[in-house]
Amino acid sequence: MTDSPAPSHAPTDPTAPEGSDELLGLIGRASRIVAFTGAGISTESGVPDFRTPGSPWMANKPIPYDEFVRSEGARREAWRRKFTMDDLYRGARPSRGHRALAALVREGRSPGIVTQNIDALHQAAGLPDEAVVELHGNGTYAVCIACDRRHELAAIRAAFEATGEAPRCESCDGPVKSATVSFGQPMPPDAMRRARDLSLACDLFLCVGSSLVVQPAASFPVIAKRNGARLVILNREPTGLDPIADLVVQGEIGPALAPLARPA
Ligand code: NAD
Repeated sequence: MTDSPAPSHAPTDPTAPEGSDELLGLIGRASRIVAFTGAGISTESGVPDFRTPGSPWMANKPIPYDEFVRSEGARREAWRRKFTMDDLYRGARPSRGHRALAALVREGRSPGIVTQNIDALHQAAGLPDEAVVELHGNGTYAVCIACDRRHELAAIRAAFEATGEAPRCESCDGPVKSATVSFGQPMPPDAMRRARDLSLACDLFLCVGSSLVVQPAASFPVIAKRNGARLVILNREPTGLDPIADLVVQGEIGPALAPLARPA
C-alpha cells in the first residue's frame, strides 16, 4: 500500500504476524471502523471455533430449526448439547482482540461491531448491547419461539437436569430455545438491517477471525468494499475474500491487535 506512515501507537508485539504494522496504520488513519468478527476472535478466550479440525461444535450433525420446532426429542437433544458446550467454555474471558475492538468503540473510532459469534464476549469486553450486532443471536439466554419472551439459562438448566424435559414458556407454553440462530432459521431482520447500515457507513471494514463462508453474514465485507471502504482480513488461514481485500494479515489475532487492547 502507498499510504503515509501510521500515527503512533504502542509497539507491535514481536510475535505479531507480518502485515500487523500496516494493519495498525490503516486503523490509525481510518475514521469509521467496523469490525466483523467470527469464532476465531474467541479461540484465545478458550472457546473453540467451528471449522478448525477437531472442533467440538462439529461433533454432532446440527439440529435444523424445523426439526427443533416439530420434535420434542430434538428439543431435548438440543438442550443437552447446549449445556455440554456451555460447560466447555464456562468462565471464558475476552481476548486481546475483543479488548482492542472494544477500545475502538469506546474511543469513538468505531460505531459498532458486527459479529457472527454467540458468546457475548464483545459485551464482556465492556461494550453495550447497542454497539454489538449479533447476526447469529446470543447463547447466553433463551427465548420462547412462539411469543419471544426471554428466559434465563440457569432456571432452564435446573429444571432440565431435574426432569429431563425441554423447557416450555410459562406465558404461552411455546417451546423455549437458546437465543441463537439455528440452521434453517430466518436471520434476525433488525440485526441484518443494522449490519448493512454499519457496512455502508464505514471507511475501514475489518474482518477478524472468520472463515467468511457462512452466508448471508459473509456478504457484509463485500457490501462494505463495494461501497468504497477499505477491506482488511485478519485470519489464521486464507479466505475466499482475500483476493478483494486491501490487506490480508494471515496469523494470530491476539498479537496483531495487542497494541490496541486495553483492560476489559
Ligand atoms: P469459522 O470456525 O468458520 O472460522 C474461524 C476462522 O478463525 C478460521 O479460519 C480459523 O483459522 C481462524 N482462527 C481461529 N483462531 C484464530 C486466531 N487465534 N487467530 C487468527 N485466526 C484464528 O467461524 P465463523 O466464520 O465465525 O463461522 C462459524 C459459525 O459458527 C458462526 O456462524 C458462529 O455463529 C458459530 N460459532 C460461534 C462461536 C462463538 O460464538 N465463539 C464458536 C464456534 C462457532
